[in-house]
Amino acid sequence: MRTCVLYIGGTSRSGSTLLECLLARRDDVVALGEVAHLWRRGLLDNELCACGQHFWRCPFWQSVGDRAFGGWSAVDVDRVLWLRRSVDRQRRLLITGRRHPPSSLAAAAREYASFYRRIYEAASAIATAPVVLDSSKVPPTAVALTHDKAINLHVMHIVRDSRGVAYSWTKTVTRPESATRESMPRFGVGLSAAQWAAHNLEVRLIAHRGAPVVRLRYEDLVDDANATVREAWSALGLPGEGGLPMSDPRTIELRPTHSVAGNPMRFRHGVTKLAPDLEWRSRMPTRERRLVTAMTFPLLRHYGYL
Ligand SMILES: [Zn+2]
Repeated sequence: MRTCVLYIGGTSRSGSTLLECLLARRDDVVALGEVAHLWRRGLLDNELCACGQHFWRCPFWQSVGDRAFGGWSAVDVDRVLWLRRSVDRQRRLLITGRRHPPSSLAAAAREYASFYRRIYEAASAIATAPVVLDSSKVPPTAVALTHDKAINLHVMHIVRDSRGVAYSWTKTVTRPESATRESMPRFGVGLSAAQWAAHNLEVRLIAHRGAPVVRLRYEDLVDDANATVREAWSALGLPGEGGLPMSDPRTIELRPTHSVAGNPMRFRHGVTKLAPDLEWRSRMPTRERRLVTAMTFPLLRHYGYL
């Protein structure tokens, strides 16, 4: 049977970790975090899983590695990282995103995707959850996954106002999972606006490769999480009802997950009040806001932000 994978696509700082934490509350979902970073941050750097254990000490990930590969030590990480450089990168998207790419590249993409498929199959079986959630976000990873026909890929494309995203990139955020407590990178608004537009446009290539893609907005998610998720879930034809166990329309109790990598929000659990992060509206310098609006104008309008 093909493993049902729900992939959260888009660009960073758009609410993908919040969406992941919300979806993780569903009994039929097992949330894995950004699996694209498992190879380096988990296997090589032994960073913290969202459960609080380091990757090599987390019982869930050890079971997944045993079931998928007969133990993580059996995985040729250099090979995976070589494949990743070959097929999972922005500059290859115009080839990997074709309906009929060159056969050598398609074979490399299939081999690369097969490592993910084995992880998905093992996680689904261990968690007895029919839907596996991968929030790797970036379109090249999802496009590579479409090359393995045993992966039943569905994509929720989350978008957020580009000005909120660009403002967020100017702030300092520390990475609690890193041994050195380093900060997440910061970008100027010009660069993050360009990245926002590129990543969001590239999601179209996933649909071009035949996977169902549905778009939802961060601002609608925090406003009415239950309705927004339910609508996206049913538009993708995922099994069952798409609702969330909210305590009230703006409140949900988040539970710890085994998210292997992602935004520091993945460590948050307990009763959580959803509120939109609109600081950029009052704090973002006018000059920067105008620049981002100009650079992202067509998509901002397309997504209904203007
Ligand atoms: Zn864990």
